[in-house]
Amino acid sequence: MKIGKYKLNIIESGSFGLDGGAMFGIIPKVLWQKTNPPDEANRVKLSTRHLLLVEDARGKSKSKKILIDTGMGNKWDDKARNIYAIDESSSMNSALAQKGLRAEDITDVILTHLHFDHTGGSLIKKDGKLEPAFPNANYFVQKQNFDWARNSSDRDKGSYIKENFIPLFEEGVLNFIIGNAKFDDEIEFIVINGHTFGQQMVKISDSVNTFLFCADLIPFYSHIPLPYIMGYDLQPLVTLQEKKKYLKMAVDTNWKLFFGHDPEIAFATVKKFGEGYIVDEFYRSFEEI
Ligand SMILES: [Zn+2]
Repeated sequence: MKIGKYKLNIIESGSFGLDGGAMFGIIPKVLWQKTNPPDEANRVKLSTRHLLLVEDARGKSKSKKILIDTGMGNKWDDKARNIYAIDESSSMNSALAQKGLRAEDITDVILTHLHFDHTGGSLIKKDGKLEPAFPNANYFVQKQNFDWARNSSDRDKGSYIKENFIPLFEEGVLNFIIGNAKFDDEIEFIVINGHTFGQQMVKISDSVNTFLFCADLIPFYSHIPLPYIMGYDLQPLVTLQEKKKYLKMAVDTNWKLFFGHDPEIAFATVKKFGEGYIVDEFYRSFEEI
């Protein structure tokens, strides 16, 4: 799949599990378990799926290789591995290797937000010291999300693990974005505030195609219907307004929505259904387009 100067690749760095009730908020289990069957501990499976944008070098010696989010990483202890059913059998490095790339090749890392399942792989432990996992990359996050992450509330501070982002700041590789902004001709950041403060979605478009990396606005394709909103969200009614706004745009201008956590579906188009929205076509890979 090509958009402008970028070739889009899907990277799967692993999976983990979260409580199904928390993932679906007010929706009864009898409904959500049809699309997302829970395990014996009531956890549903989340994948950590990324977009990797590789610039067409066009004679330049170095092309940009941009990764969106860094997944869970591998700094977890046994207790956390058990709670979150973390599957580390696949990893970011092996997923990149399948594309013929190493961590050193990544030039830019866009972080949608600093929750542990989005920035867990940003740093690695080497000789007891934390170092950027992508040593040649500039990292990007919204300043508003960084400020909240450093000083979050008692309700959500478990989602922001400081060793996953403070050392990036101290190393001087964390760049702050303020509000909606264009990264370049194809890439644009769109700020949303329902899930947490200062999350950024990533819109990748040219004159033909648009992909929206939805991050945690729509983590699974089964979250497309309007009332399907995670119990984790700090401002669920803001999430509702944001879903209405961006799902309408997705229908009106035929965007493809990319899901960072769906265990099966990588991206989908949506259509209107009554007052709300449902999935139209869905895809597991770019080969299916
Ligand atoms: Zn997430």
